[in-house]
Amino acid sequence: MPQEIQLQVLPEIAATNHLLVDYVAKLTHTPSNEIQHVTILKRSIDARQKQVKINLKVQVFFQGEDVHHRPVSFPDYKNVRNAPVAIVVGAGPAGYFAALQLIELGVKPIVVERGKDVRGRRRDLKAINVDHIVNPDSNYCFGEGGAGTYSDGKLYTRSKKRGDVNRILELLVAFGASQDILVEAHPHIGTNKLPKIMEDMRHKITEFGGEVLFDKRVVDFDVKGNEIKGAVLHTGETIEANQVILATGHSARDIFELLDRKNIFIEAKPFALGVRAEHPQSLIDSIQYSCDFRGDFLPPAPYSIVKQVNGRGMYSFCMCPGGVIAPCATDVEEVVTNGWSPSKRDQATANSGIVVELKLEDFKPYEKHGALAGMYFQKEIENTAWKVAGKTQEVPAQRMVDFSNKKVSESLPKTSYVPGVVSSELGDVFPSFLTGIMRQGFQEFGKSMKGYFTNDAILHAPESRTSSPVRIPRNDDTLEHLQIKGLYPCGEGAGYAGGIISAAIDGEKCAIKCAEQIFGYRN
Ligand code: FAD
Repeated sequence: MPQEIQLQVLPEIAATNHLLVDYVAKLTHTPSNEIQHVTILKRSIDARQKQVKINLKVQVFFQGEDVHHRPVSFPDYKNVRNAPVAIVVGAGPAGYFAALQLIELGVKPIVVERGKDVRGRRRDLKAINVDHIVNPDSNYCFGEGGAGTYSDGKLYTRSKKRGDVNRILELLVAFGASQDILVEAHPHIGTNKLPKIMEDMRHKITEFGGEVLFDKRVVDFDVKGNEIKGAVLHTGETIEANQVILATGHSARDIFELLDRKNIFIEAKPFALGVRAEHPQSLIDSIQYSCDFRGDFLPPAPYSIVKQVNGRGMYSFCMCPGGVIAPCATDVEEVVTNGWSPSKRDQATANSGIVVELKLEDFKPYEKHGALAGMYFQKEIENTAWKVAGKTQEVPAQRMVDFSNKKVSESLPKTSYVPGVVSSELGDVFPSFLTGIMRQGFQEFGKSMKGYFTNDAILHAPESRTSSPVRIPRNDDTLEHLQIKGLYPCGEGAGYAGGIISAAIDGEKCAIKCAEQIFGYRN
């Protein structure tokens, strides 16, 4: 029987196979040559002591034992060419995982996506970065794979249901992600790997008879009485179906406007907003690993920090070690930042959203917009930042200590944000209550992470798309919209997910309910 052991070892032992075998041999009082293989089942970093250690859960196979690798395979997909149809609006993680789950359950998904496939999308990303041109249908948030495609691909989630999370991770591995994501405590895929995975998911959907339509924006819903009958495209065409999974993400403002106009119930939802901070990665490494030099065996260090400032949470969000800050606007006359990193996380800088939790009462100045008040609050900050930095995709930026001291920076350090930065007073971008909290908060962060509060760090404004400013309420049991039968609000845009994994899980959940309605059974 292979033996499972928990270990705590030095980074070089965890990273070097023969050293790990020797270590296990010593620990189990076995000669090294009697150990056939050591499989790492779980890996995490313990940086609490001066000497960083790696926690491992390993499976040890002795000579004569059958070394089996964890099998990862596709579910039993059905041919759905002639099956009942469900429309899935949006080809993000929620939409694609919903579509695959529908196929597994014998329903034909027609995925309708406003943006382009991953290849076509690349040209539009270049246009934002280089020419400052934003295509409102194809950008860092819109297009095949959704907002997650050109991201860090961090795959951790606060979801408590390990079974659901493992299923999504295993599917990602089946679609080509590294087996490492099943092992790491904080798995990530990387921007260079995600597009191919999304492309392969699409091939699987079409191979079994589903359809994926690109460059097709949904502009209306066909609703008769209180039942959905189809989705209307910008071309004027209507696709008919009694089931529509609405997975359009947190940036589909036109969908929120549409629902509001049609009196389909939506509500304002608190979210968080702030800046994207960038430090030299070597500085974050030295803070997190208590060392001058990270060495060859530790990954670029991440960080996670939260403080209460004036009764509000201020915290790091979507931290990207060895990453790049991306221009994530989805429309003209706005700037938005977010971050990504390649699978090796080998860039020289560490960036993170640093955001402050908002409350519904903050949206009071926009109350004439009703349920869209938070969205207009967000929109105005993005538009103000665009104006402050000169009406291109350059963003307002300030050194961290200068920001706290209300001083416009005389010069700015090099940034990874390709469109460029303009030295500005970030207090001109945000409402004063937010600026006040952030000015104080960064100093508080510096007390917990010595060296963090520094003028070597540069703040970019704004980080504003942390989650949806709107919730599309649904029935807890059927997952249908509270008023509209057959409409399934899904994923991050509807307010039921916050990240790639939770969006994928929600996509599957909605697909299961959808199939239950179609085939008339309940689990
Ligand atoms: P989305 O991914 O937003 O997908 C919605 C899709 O719907 C889009 O493709 C859009 O084009 C389409 N759509 C919108 N309106 C319409 C319409 N009217 N008609 C047709 N189609 C429409 N999360 C993580 O977990 N880890 C990370 O490391 C991470 N990094 C990120 C980095 C960046 C730069 C960004 C922008 C986001 C990042 N996120 C990350 C967040 C993550 O991408 C989202 O939480 C996730 O993609 C939400 O999935 P979703 O399917 O609900 O929505």
